[in-house]
Parts: sequence; C-alpha cells; structure tokens
Amino acid sequence: MTIDFADDAQDLIAGYRRFRANRYREARDLFYRLRDGQEPATMIVACADSRADPAMIFDAAPGELFTVRNVAALVPPYDESGGLHGVSAAVEFAVTRLKVKQIVVMGHGGCGGIAASLAAAADRPVGHFIAPWVELAADARDAVLRNEAIPRADWQEAVEHGAVGQSIKNLMSFPFVRSAFERGELAMNGAWFSIGKGELHWRDEDTGAFSVVATEDPEIDQDNKI
Ligand SMILES: [Zn+2]
Repeated sequence: MTIDFADDAQDLIAGYRRFRANRYREARDLFYRLRDGQEPATMIVACADSRADPAMIFDAAPGELFTVRNVAALVPPYDESGGLHGVSAAVEFAVTRLKVKQIVVMGHGGCGGIAASLAAAADRPVGHFIAPWVELAADARDAVLRNEAIPRADWQEAVEHGAVGQSIKNLMSFPFVRSAFERGELAMNGAWFSIGKGELHWRDEDTGAFSVVATEDPEIDQDNKI
C-alpha cells in the first residue's frame, strides 16, 4: 500500500528510510538483542529543544540512555500528592526498576523555558502551562537576579546553569534517589550544551561551576563557529 504523506510527514518518512538503510542496518543485531528489555546505565533529563538531542551529543547507541525531555530540563521536587507526575514516574522507574548508575541533568544555551522563567520574573506573560512549570527554576533564577555581580547579558546562561543544580537538588528530595546515592549506587551529574559551539560543559558537583569538556584533540576543540 502506498500512503500519500504531507510535506512535513514526508521529511520524517525520508529520515526513517535513511535510518532503515543505514543506522538500523548497522545496529540490527543490537536492536534484536534489546527486544525484550533495556539495561541503560544512565538516565538523562534534558530539554525538549530540537537542537540539544542527548543521544546525538553523547553518540549513544540504542539501550544506553533512558531519557526524559521536557521544557527546560526541569525536575520537580518529591511530591506525594495526587497529580500526573510524568517526570517523577520516569525517575522512579529509572532508579527503582532499571537501577541506573547515574542521572545527568543537561541544560543548554538559548533555552526558551529558562527565557520564559526570566520573562515571568519581569511580569511578562508566558504560557498557561509553561508559567507554573518554569517556576521550578524560580530559586535558581532569583539567586541570579539577586546577584549584582552577574551582568544582565549573562542572566540567561547563569539561570540555565543554576536550574541544572536546582533539578539535581530536587532529584535528591526523592527518598529512593537519596538512598541509592547514599549507598554509592547512583551518581548525580549536571551538564550544559552550547548549541552555537557544539560544546558540552560539565558541572562540578562541589562548586556548581561548569567547565568545557575537552575533546582531547586541540583541532576539534577549536572547530566551532564562535
Ligand atoms: Zn530548552
């Protein structure tokens, strides 16, 4: 049967056909071995942004990354009340069932969700669902806005960094996360991706500061647009 795809769907179908012809062929045995279950060592919390794809950035194979993506890569604090806690359900599954060895929260440059958080602080309107969601970054944002040493031009990136730390802090409020961490069975890490430079920055867990990850090839390290 031939299906008539509209233009945008046609792009996806063309991509799927490339996948079947190339990457699927290379990984066919791996997909077959994975058919009955997954055993990823890493959970990633990333932004839904189309430009910061964890599987691409970490060059990960199928089965390696258990990934949750949402607006601004945020994790809510532990909350036992009712509600549709999609991120919390994924964290619970990753830690208690899959027993992942690390959780990485990855923010990125030019994040629209973090921009919305800053807009909300300036009483500019943001979306009905976006407004309460990005309030999860409010503590990180307010800490930046209170810090007179940070110039306005750096607010956005500073809040992007701070929000990663906030999400890690919120992850630690889940009892099963904290206990796995304290038993030494779960590591917590933060990262931030520069879209313009294609550079990964890694968070120092003690200071909360981010520094660029060297590629071990100076030529590649210089190979960006900025
Ligand atoms: Zn984003």
